[in-house]
Amino acid sequence: MAKPKLFITRELFDDVIKKLEQYYDVEVWDRYEQPPYEVLLQKAREVDALVSLLTDRIDCNLLQQAKKLRIVAQYAVGFDNIDVECATRLGIYVTNTPGVLTEAVAELTWALILAVARRIVEADHFVRWGEWYRTKTGWHPKMMLGMELRGKTLGIVGLGRIGSRVAEIAVKGFGMKVIYYDVKRREDLEKELGIEYRDLDQLLQEADIVSIHVPLTKETYHLINEERLRKMKRSAILINTARGKVVDTEALVKALREGWIAGAGLDVFEEEPLPPNHPLTAFKNVVLVPHIGSATYETRHAMAELVAENLIAFYEGRVPPNLVNPEVVKVRPPGFK
Ligand code: NAP
Repeated sequence: MAKPKLFITRELFDDVIKKLEQYYDVEVWDRYEQPPYEVLLQKAREVDALVSLLTDRIDCNLLQQAKKLRIVAQYAVGFDNIDVECATRLGIYVTNTPGVLTEAVAELTWALILAVARRIVEADHFVRWGEWYRTKTGWHPKMMLGMELRGKTLGIVGLGRIGSRVAEIAVKGFGMKVIYYDVKRREDLEKELGIEYRDLDQLLQEADIVSIHVPLTKETYHLINEERLRKMKRSAILINTARGKVVDTEALVKALREGWIAGAGLDVFEEEPLPPNHPLTAFKNVVLVPHIGSATYETRHAMAELVAENLIAFYEGRVPPNLVNPEVVKVRPPGFK
């Protein structure tokens, strides 16, 4: 039997590609920019398996035209770019890469919290562009004051894998009080870490730092809107390393402009890449990074290995370990037979 065809929408790691080549006839999109939708559509029509990124729009139109396609292995934990309901109906397996990126995203979340709370980027610019030198003052009791973390309250929105790791670091590392909001109570973690449940509006009123870790779904789209931002303390910081569309950007810009909140740290945006003239770039109290939550060597490689594991399991007729749509098994068994 000829090997099934696999299209990978961006360069992964050579050792992982080699591993996949033992099972699949692999084609890799080797340009830096993402494949245009038309290319994706064309490839999807030709192949049996696809590795997608969060920037690839895998909608129902594409899936319906992909008559041979049996599996979409997403190189991310979030999969809001894929019409999973449609894939399930068509018997197409969808997998993701949970767990392996938890540490990297939690660490970046803390990098942003510290950067905003201690004004790291602003302070760097102060030194780098000569402002410090121009003050002729080496040290001043009121220079670049920020927020201390010990004893403050961190509000986690979405206490899943990443949210709970961020909570653990807050409690064990920084001596913070942690409150959380999620669709379900996590009594195990409440006991283990001494954290407390709040409804979302209560959390927003109480927290000194609000950190978002929910997936993007119909329910979480603009979860943090104008009304909710107005509930936050004027001294509070908002951190988003989940998905840009969970926050209403226009409302956030208004909140920052009018001082309803004290600052923000953002890894994700409604529009990516963020244009350089975007209003968010004008605020000194906002730290912006380009969707690098999982961007460590260790994690990006582990994500690629997990993608391969899912594809190999499917090839061997096994249910992939990170199946997002388990109901698909009733529509079609795993494998290419
Ligand atoms: P996870 O373990 O699934 O955690 C998400 C948590 O949010 C779960 O407890 C989930 O509950 C809860 N939730 C879902 N819908 C909710 C709602 N409407 N209201 C309140 N809580 C809700 O996922 P994770 O691995 O921690 O990842 C979280 C998100 O981070 C991903 O979905 C992804 O979008 C984002 N992410 C970003 C980066 C980056 O590069 N910046 C990297 C990785 C992940 P249920 O389990 O009951 O649904």
